[in-house]
Amino acid sequence: MTPRKIRTRIAPSPTGFLHLGTARTALYSWAYARHFDGEFVLRIEDTDVARSTQDSVDQILASMHWLGLEYNEGPIYQMQRLDRYKAVIDQLIAEGKAYYCYSTPEELDAVREAKKARGEKALYDGRWRPAPGKTLPPIPAGVPPVVRFCNPPDGDVSWDDLVKGPITISNREIDDLIIARTDGVPTYNFAVVVDDWDMEISHVFRGDEHINNTPWQINIFHALGAPLPQFGHCPVILGDDGQKLSKRRGAVSVTAYEEGGYLPEAMLNYLARLGWSHGDEELFTSEQLVVWFDGTHLNKSPAQWDPVKLLWVNAQYIKQADNTRLAGLVATQLAKQGITLDASTIETHLPQVCALLKDRCDTTVALATWAAKFYGDITPDATELAQHVTDAVRPAVAMLAEKLSTCAWDKASIAAVIKEVLAANGLKMPQLAMPVRVLVMGTAQTPSLDGVLEMCGKEKVIARLAKA
Ligand code: GLU
Repeated sequence: MTPRKIRTRIAPSPTGFLHLGTARTALYSWAYARHFDGEFVLRIEDTDVARSTQDSVDQILASMHWLGLEYNEGPIYQMQRLDRYKAVIDQLIAEGKAYYCYSTPEELDAVREAKKARGEKALYDGRWRPAPGKTLPPIPAGVPPVVRFCNPPDGDVSWDDLVKGPITISNREIDDLIIARTDGVPTYNFAVVVDDWDMEISHVFRGDEHINNTPWQINIFHALGAPLPQFGHCPVILGDDGQKLSKRRGAVSVTAYEEGGYLPEAMLNYLARLGWSHGDEELFTSEQLVVWFDGTHLNKSPAQWDPVKLLWVNAQYIKQADNTRLAGLVATQLAKQGITLDASTIETHLPQVCALLKDRCDTTVALATWAAKFYGDITPDATELAQHVTDAVRPAVAMLAEKLSTCAWDKASIAAVIKEVLAANGLKMPQLAMPVRVLVMGTAQTPSLDGVLEMCGKEKVIARLAKA
């Protein structure tokens, strides 16, 4: 037998944004396919018509694009494949592997309650399941049927999970799954199998909330005579409070991190590391991930989302990032604060400001907050003003302003003027630098003074020093 081509997929439901957990399994699926020179497919599982929205589809596509998770095929929409599902369902019915069930919700509730009362698992009682010699109930008028899959009544379903290792679940634990609703739309567990079969998916990475669905899916694969993919179920991501990361617990959408000033490569690096390791490597590019990621070393136990570590990772990438690229990102963040810059400032001046500040910023939002001091207004902190801008230093500040007004505007000339003023007033650097920083940048903690003054521009510096 020739080995199967490696084909992976991510199959988000467009009932909300791209969740961090899904982004992580998308990343693993993508990296696995790339590692083995395979293909990665994006499928949109939109059969939950009531909850699926175009807005969610758009957000999912935008997030995948932002993260750089390019797919070889897709997006494929399940709702465009209804004819295919119907054909497979009809075939299963014809082969006696699926059947119509006319039980009403009330009947099903009653069965469930009765089973529960007897201490049994509340499974479907199989009353519409055909069997040799069995007489089925008369078909009730006006009750639209669902279609159920004939799950094997006995035996076990086992698979060797790429993440969790061997898993076995008894068929007695599961019942005859509904595979088509009364309106004919297939359910998740059925559509996912037909799709993974048709799309020749060889490896399925997904969240471990789907472990309990897998036995059904494996039984359906067998019923269809379809080859089984290998499954890898990744543990949930826990929030920093140890609870499952959820909408109610902080930001869980990829989009929120984009808006929060994270770089996509930092996000990828952090997500990859969250649930997988390569020795003790913490910082790596996505190309490096592709080289290393072969489906091993995936953690069996849940990872904890660590916002502080993510910030640290982001800061490392910001330090290395190209200044022109940072300028573009910072300009977008500045615009959100109401500061719009012209194209030439963004192309020439802002990159230098980014270069000056990026070592002290862990997000592009933080970078924009700093950059705003160069382009917008500043309000010096009153306590810092009182502490640093004293009568003793005011004459030196005035002298500095005066000398700067005629000085050539480059770092070296500015540094020379500062030196001259320090000497003339018998001051040490911090005695002058602190008040000047507070006056010009609104805070005493800034990068090197000459660099800050140069970037701020002569006019602004003189005007701000005049407020001493
Ligand atoms: N639509 C499912 C989800 O978002 C996909 C699960 C799977 O990958 O099979 O959870």
